[in-house]
Amino acid sequence: SKKILEVKNLKKYFPIKKGKYKEGQPAVKAVDDITFDLYEGETLGLVGESGCGKSTLGRTILRLYEPTGGRVLFREEDISKKNKKEMRKLREDMQIIFQDPYSSLNPRMNVFNILAEPLLAHGIFKRGPELEAYVKDLMDRCGLPSYYCYRYPHQFSGGQRQRIGIARSLALNPSFVVCDEPVSALDVSIQSQIINLMKDMQEEKKISYIFISHDLSVVKHISDRVGVMYLGSMVELADKEVLYQNPQHPYTKALIAAIPIPDPKKRKELSVIQGEIPSNVNIPSGCKFHPRCPFAKDICKQKEPAYREIQKNHFVRCHFAGEFE
Ligand code: SF4
Ligand code: MG
Repeated sequence: SKKILEVKNLKKYFPIKKGKYKEGQPAVKAVDDITFDLYEGETLGLVGESGCGKSTLGRTILRLYEPTGGRVLFREEDISKKNKKEMRKLREDMQIIFQDPYSSLNPRMNVFNILAEPLLAHGIFKRGPELEAYVKDLMDRCGLPSYYCYRYPHQFSGGQRQRIGIARSLALNPSFVVCDEPVSALDVSIQSQIINLMKDMQEEKKISYIFISHDLSVVKHISDRVGVMYLGSMVELADKEVLYQNPQHPYTKALIAAIPIPDPKKRKELSVIQGEIPSNVNIPSGCKFHPRCPFAKDICKQKEPAYREIQKNHFVRCHFAGEFE
């Protein structure tokens, strides 16, 4: 199927001193040379420990942050070349769903107005019966009874608020949505309802998702492909089945081995990840993962491994990928 997004050597560095980043200055390398494509209607899961740069990557792709380097092509057009007006038009098509919709829902607006706002702001509808019908239908499709439309955010449960957040993100019919930990704040029993809603909406409209989470089980459930991030780098990216069954980066191996499974006897030999996550200011030399890697050799301390395609559509950043059992 067709590419909707191309991320090429994308970088986002935050300088430690105030002001704009200048080359060579100390900086937090939140997104450090990341490259991948996203196809129409697919879900790419992004996993990694907190602070690995997943959220920053999502925001830089949407140009909510200006990149330090690299490019983002959306439908083959470089979004950093768009002016304000063009970017505003593009925003209809590129949306974000937040972890905690509550903090982004205006407490003084009722649900109807929360959902109507982007439609009015982008000139899709004027006030009137058509807008009303559209908003109520959107609520229904998101599992929110439309007779709730005059209620306020605080009158809803966490799961319902996330439904409002999703409805608002989907109001403009986007074709690409960054979902930043959309179920992490919810009870496990509610998580799958919300994920099913997101899947239904995706099928209906052929939406492409980047689904960010620290929870590998959740990502496994929703994704077609999965990327693993460590200290700002993409260390592995592959089809879901390949990544979970035949991980090739030692970090991915450790993450997957640590997923709780019901029968402990079936659990693979644990290569528990050791040590603290280093800060992404003082990044280790060579392979960033070497201080925690059980397979590290001398070369790993000296030379940064390249991000290479070891098999079709299976990318790994490790000197020894493909040579593990
Ligand atoms: Fe481990 Fe070396 Fe591979 Fe890095 S390059 S993940 S240190 S084996
Ligand atoms: Mg985050």
